[in-house]
Amino acid sequence: MTTFNDFGLHADINRALAAKDYTTPTPIQTQAIPPLMKGRDLCGIAQTGTGKTAGFSLPSIHHLLTYPHRANPRSCRMLVLAPTRELAAQIAQSCRDYGRFTKLSVTTVFGGVPINKQIRELSSGVDILVATPGRLLDLIDQRALRLDDVEIFVLDEADQMMDMGFIHSLRRIAKLLPSRRQNLFFSATMPKEIAHLAEQFLEDPVTVSVTPAATTVEKISQYSTFVEQKEKQALLHSVIASEDIDRALIFTRTKHGADRVVRHLAGAGIKAMAIHGNKSQSQRTHALQAFRSGDIKLLVATDIAARGIDVSGVSHVINFEIPNVPEQYVHRIGRTARAGAEGKAISFIAPDERPYMRDIERVTRSKSEPMPLPENFNELVRNLPKPAQPPRDTGSQGRNPQRQREDALRGRDGNKPRGDRGPRRDGAPAGEGAEGQRKRRFRPRNKSVGAHKGAVKRVG
Ligand code: AMP
Repeated sequence: MTTFNDFGLHADINRALAAKDYTTPTPIQTQAIPPLMKGRDLCGIAQTGTGKTAGFSLPSIHHLLTYPHRANPRSCRMLVLAPTRELAAQIAQSCRDYGRFTKLSVTTVFGGVPINKQIRELSSGVDILVATPGRLLDLIDQRALRLDDVEIFVLDEADQMMDMGFIHSLRRIAKLLPSRRQNLFFSATMPKEIAHLAEQFLEDPVTVSVTPAATTVEKISQYSTFVEQKEKQALLHSVIASEDIDRALIFTRTKHGADRVVRHLAGAGIKAMAIHGNKSQSQRTHALQAFRSGDIKLLVATDIAARGIDVSGVSHVINFEIPNVPEQYVHRIGRTARAGAEGKAISFIAPDERPYMRDIERVTRSKSEPMPLPENFNELVRNLPKPAQPPRDTGSQGRNPQRQREDALRGRDGNKPRGDRGPRRDGAPAGEGAEGQRKRRFRPRNKSVGAHKGAVKRVG
């Protein structure tokens, strides 16, 4: 069996791995690290949870240490692009962990926070820069950063980037990169459009593919309950009371829906927090920390906000609403059963969500076990405690309260729950924070670019 010592990684990296108690490389690490150490380009078909971050960052850190030199001002030596702030922050943290015995500098830049601090951090140059595409281009436009010194370029979660409408940003960034560089490209799925995008970045790549999603899904016990949409909250309270939960992630399709679930839980004296694109960065970080530390056991999230969340010990994923794109389901339930642990996924299926569940079961080649409603369910529904009043500061950013009230009166709430607006087939969770704004601005007109979203994709 391969061990980390077999890769010939720099001693400082091996020390960091030992400190993290990593002994055995995961399959993607075993496949990706040797060709990356030789400087090859790589196309990786892998999702979060497979260990891909170490797969790309360990050999990259090795390269930076093997050819040491100071980064030029307003430049970086390694650039990692990620679709969301959470994922960017997490990748940066992994790089810091793996590089903790080195002097390499790691910086993260993403939207939704003031740009000036980021401009200052970049001014003297950084070794590893982890960025979301929109903010990266803003910094380039402000002449705070140039990309001509990039030696290693990593594009992570390419399929999510496409779904979020970052295609034009990516094309612009590609033109700014130097021609001599090592390229790493990761995507959970590889439909034609993503493969085409990969071709634009990669030169004679090694392709590695790990853990088909179906296998990941098989490790998770999946249950589903048919329930009316308006009775889901009562079911949630019942599940929380009856299940042995260490940590549960509860997924809703909308930001408004996530807040409503939290308020209902608060009304019943159950502590939970929400994480979504309308929360400020510090609120999101605070909620994640509370969840990680065990201060709260329940985190309610929308898909984009939860993408890439890496919290160990998530015993349950509860699909309060069913995603209409099967891959979202795979990403959601992949938050549990991390690194070989067992997990449980429970889906609440309203009548109009049944077709989504059928699609999910076909794509994941798995079937969830029926979980009947509790015997006293009608009573639970009748006695459901009233939701708590929304706190004065709901965390909504940039929305004037007066305007919100006016919108509500006119029935113009952009956050209206999906169920009220009818199903949406493109699978794009609408308007998630600054990056979501971009999505609307840059959504490609050319149909073929986004066409993969409607198609049934092979997972993994
Ligand atoms: P990733 O897919 O990169 O998000 O990694 C998923 C999780 O697995 C993270 O919590 C990593 O810290 C952890 N991990 C990655 N590689 C290993 C390894 N070789 N042994 C144990 N845990 C690992």
